[in-house]
Amino acid sequence: MKDDHGGGPGVLSLDGKTVAPRGTILDACRSAGIALPSFCYDEKVGQGGHCRACLVEADGRFVAACTTAAEAYREVLTDTPALRAYRRDLGELMLSEADPGALGRTGGSVGVPRHTAVAQVLRDWGCDGTRYAVNRDGGRKDESHPYLRIDLDACIRCRLCLRACEEIQGQFVYAFEGRGRTTRLTWGEGPFAESDCVACGACVDVCPTGAISDVDRLAALPADRVVQTTCSYCGVGCGLDVHVAGDRVQEIEGTRDNPVNRGHLCVKGRYAHGFARHPDRLTTPLVRRDGELRPASWEEAIRRIAETFGRLRGRVAALSSSRCTNEENYLVQKWMRAGMGTHNVDCCARVCHAPTAAGMRRVFGTGAATNSLADIDRADLILVAGTNTTEAHPVVGARVKQAALRGAALVVIDPRRTELAGVADVHLQLRAGSNVLLLNAMASAMVEEGVVNHDFVRERTTGFVEYARFLAERTPEATEALTGVPAELVRRAARMYGSARRPLQIHGLGMTEHYQGSEGVMLLCNLAMLAGALGREGVGVNPLRGQNNVQGAADMGCQPHLMTGYGDPGDDAVRRRFEEVWERPIPESPGLTIPRMYGAAVAGDLKAMFILGEDVLQSDPTNDAEAGLGALDFLVVQELFPTRTAERADVVLPGASFLEKDGTFTNGERRIQRVRKAIDPPGDARPDWRILCDLMAATGMPQPFRHPREIMAEIGRVAPSFAGVTYERLEPNGLQWPVPTPDHPGTAILHDTSFPLGRAAFACVEYEPSPVFEHEAGYPLRLITGRVLEHYNCGSMTRRSPNVLLRPADDLEIHPADAESAGLKDGDPVRVRSPFGEAVAVARLSERVTPGEAFLSFHFPETGTNRLTSSVLDRLADCPEYKVTPVRVAPAQGSAEESPGLP
Ligand code: SF4
Repeated sequence: MKDDHGGGPGVLSLDGKTVAPRGTILDACRSAGIALPSFCYDEKVGQGGHCRACLVEADGRFVAACTTAAEAYREVLTDTPALRAYRRDLGELMLSEADPGALGRTGGSVGVPRHTAVAQVLRDWGCDGTRYAVNRDGGRKDESHPYLRIDLDACIRCRLCLRACEEIQGQFVYAFEGRGRTTRLTWGEGPFAESDCVACGACVDVCPTGAISDVDRLAALPADRVVQTTCSYCGVGCGLDVHVAGDRVQEIEGTRDNPVNRGHLCVKGRYAHGFARHPDRLTTPLVRRDGELRPASWEEAIRRIAETFGRLRGRVAALSSSRCTNEENYLVQKWMRAGMGTHNVDCCARVCHAPTAAGMRRVFGTGAATNSLADIDRADLILVAGTNTTEAHPVVGARVKQAALRGAALVVIDPRRTELAGVADVHLQLRAGSNVLLLNAMASAMVEEGVVNHDFVRERTTGFVEYARFLAERTPEATEALTGVPAELVRRAARMYGSARRPLQIHGLGMTEHYQGSEGVMLLCNLAMLAGALGREGVGVNPLRGQNNVQGAADMGCQPHLMTGYGDPGDDAVRRRFEEVWERPIPESPGLTIPRMYGAAVAGDLKAMFILGEDVLQSDPTNDAEAGLGALDFLVVQELFPTRTAERADVVLPGASFLEKDGTFTNGERRIQRVRKAIDPPGDARPDWRILCDLMAATGMPQPFRHPREIMAEIGRVAPSFAGVTYERLEPNGLQWPVPTPDHPGTAILHDTSFPLGRAAFACVEYEPSPVFEHEAGYPLRLITGRVLEHYNCGSMTRRSPNVLLRPADDLEIHPADAESAGLKDGDPVRVRSPFGEAVAVARLSERVTPGEAFLSFHFPETGTNRLTSSVLDRLADCPEYKVTPVRVAPAQGSAEESPGLP
């Protein structure tokens, strides 16, 4: 029954139309197609209510539509004489503070208007000037940052930037100073480039006026299309909206409805796309003649490779690329196995998360993340082990910070005081290289303190009794002298993790790149089993995969002991399945891992290598890689840039970047997502899958594929966990494998009822000191290596973008006490020596590291970070021990020639 106001219980009269009162009045207006301006509202952040532009008359009262529940009122009017007068007044007040010329200067783009055109709204309200005293900022403008421009003449004090910075990124860069009409946005005293901004762009996305803008956008022509694709930097796998004008990328935004990143990005995914049109791009094949790499035709280059690989069949190897698509990785391993008669194929998972796969496989039967990134929001405790998440996986790092701000407990295991460690409830700051000791101690404390989920242990695991006996002597007290972590802190962390309702783990390369890396991961699995934290929402063991498609490269079989979908070549039935599809025999015995490829080359057993998109001379232990590549008869490198590895090749093939081809990537939560071509490759460069098809055809194995979707169809025939994957089904947000049938929805959580092993098996792991510690005499510091926010791995893409302005060199983080002993000041050039080699960097004094430890990134080839690394490998997975190297440091004095790594 209608009441006097036109509404009634459960209904709302909205400008005379009856609607369901769901959400806020603003939601109801938008559902009803009523365009109500709201400058301080954005669905990415919480309710605002600051700008008052969305005021409406609700049952006769003025209320802000964006913060008022629709069900609280019966009649809402959005356009009345009183509202019109009010809006005109509001608009004039805004114009007294903001410059009409600056408002909305950067608003709008093809198909996806980003900024509400505030200036247009004000015109619609009839505001072409102001009756109020003009009180503009006087034009505080900032052009110090390579990616962001600030023009406070256009600021309307809506606070969206501040809220996005805090509520999405958790960074707290902005503040408002002053009161009333003197209120101003600020980021501190100095230039914006020196603020705490991490250039995620969240503020730019929500700014309704363009007061904070992307340089990309200001410089851009209007885009003529938007292509949705997946980021090619880290394994988070953020969705990208790539704005393209002609054949150039103009700017990149996060895909708002992608469940991985929900519109958020980091400084790499959002801004570091300039590499695609960098003049250093390889644009034509190169063939070595008379000792020099010279331009050649595709026919000549392919012929040269086919002749040599054909002659050396069985003594060749391939290193595939985690930067390339699933389809391309599938082709590389198919070429080696079915075409070259060898399982000698590996990928960079070997040098990052192979220990995760090996460790988790031993305990659970599957070596991949058990849960989804969305589970971070559901966890009530997050254990962050060996990952500097806010720098290495920034969008996940921001999500963890938000979870902590909402009240989730945070326990961090890391030798460095990372950003997350700084806000954690407990930071277990262990001595580098003591993971196994610490995790045994934590498990021991869980058992002793009685925080074990005995139902889960009884029903879903094996070996608990023996494990509990093993742990009895490995208490926090017994190990604290070696780990450096006070026993009571370990016990506190154990109690918190064991008694949380939904404890979730994430871990990174700080766990894996050790002599006992795989075993350390097995101990993380043990913790989850003790807590019963598997097979349900908000929990799990979740490796943060390094490269964008390292999960996919491993899934596709780019490893010497497992084929596509983790098929064991030693299993007759598995081999037959592949042989039927590939119509070729496949060898039975496994091939060589990367470190063993180098060894086989030195021994003369391996003659030729094909390396796809990997600068191993910089990213692998350099001394071993140099020896291995130097011993080969023939090296082929398929690349975007003339990397140091490419410079050593006999043939160089110019490939395409992720912006220039179609395919799929699989992120760290097993989500297979589409990669879509946005622009053409430069010059004669070609999509890598096409080059691989040409190579396979030239070596006697023609492939029928006309598009990567057809390659995915074949992948589904050999890999049961991909059987239900098609490009159509990957729309709009991908699928998480396993997807065993065409109607299977994908698998967000593994092991919900059982493990592939039936029951998960507790692992008793005895600590064994790394052999690298035998070299510590005369090298008083333990060096940890890793990534920084602005760069990615060997840096061949990020160094060719303005990110290099944000971080122009590799820095050595060193404790002030150690720096003083070595005679180093902040910013000094520093020479770092290990028993295995030497590097040169810039000293940065920092208490993020403890005395006796240091940290160095490896993004600049001139630094030579991986020349320092030893040849020690993880005992189960052959991953190099990047995380512990004994070093000593000294000022790198002298000429630039003596210190070639210095900027
Ligand atoms: Fe790309 Fe990773 Fe940054 Fe996301 S977090 S934008 S995937 S680099």
